[in-house]
Amino acid sequence: MSIKENLQEVHSHLPAQVQLVCVSKFHPDEAILEAYACGERTFGESHVQELCRKHEELPPDISWHFIGHLQTNKVKYIVPFVDLIHGVDSLKLLAEIDKQAAKIGRQVNCLLQMHIAQEESKFGMDEAELREALARRGEWTHVTLCGLMGMATFTDAQEQVRGEFRGLRRLFDAVKAEYFPDDARFAVLSMGMSDDYRIAVEEGSTMVRIGTTIFGHRDYGIQ
Ligand SMILES: *Cc1c(COP(=O)(O)O)cnc(C)c1O
Repeated sequence: MSIKENLQEVHSHLPAQVQLVCVSKFHPDEAILEAYACGERTFGESHVQELCRKHEELPPDISWHFIGHLQTNKVKYIVPFVDLIHGVDSLKLLAEIDKQAAKIGRQVNCLLQMHIAQEESKFGMDEAELREALARRGEWTHVTLCGLMGMATFTDAQEQVRGEFRGLRRLFDAVKAEYFPDDARFAVLSMGMSDDYRIAVEEGSTMVRIGTTIFGHRDYGIQ
């Protein structure tokens, strides 16, 4: 199947209001351009160096999202152009994004990443950390909090995945009602990848991050 056919397949399962982030990490520029030619404009990357290179070389109207684990010492490289940072998982990272964004007078859109999976290895805040970040949100004047992000457990147990997504949706609604009732910018719930995006959409995702289903398997040899 071609990238074009894969995209048609994905879109056939996405309601119009759910935004697709084409996860292009480890895929060559030609693959991105193929999706671009099909009308896609939003691409997600998880390595800073790779993202910066692709941002330099690919069409300027691409909206770049950073979806991986972001190290504080690399924030400065992406802050000038990134449109959304999905994986903000600590107050330290929030503070650094704010500092670098303030330096260049830019507002940077961020999602707070919640730890919803069973695997310890996955990143994300617990609810106490989330509450602290929300309570202190006024300190980060150059960060725009746009919503939450989460990754479900990597398992074939669909009911478990569904339960994790459902919990995150509930949390999102509660946070929205309590902290952002009149702020239309807090509207993004980023959940769902190739293997679980259909469940995520059923559970109220507004943004899915899909790589393999669009571009095929990643070749970790290139970058
Ligand atoms: C790589 C990645 C994806 C895409 O995963 P696929 O299974 O290839 O769709 C989504 N989200 C994050 C955070 C990722 O790192």
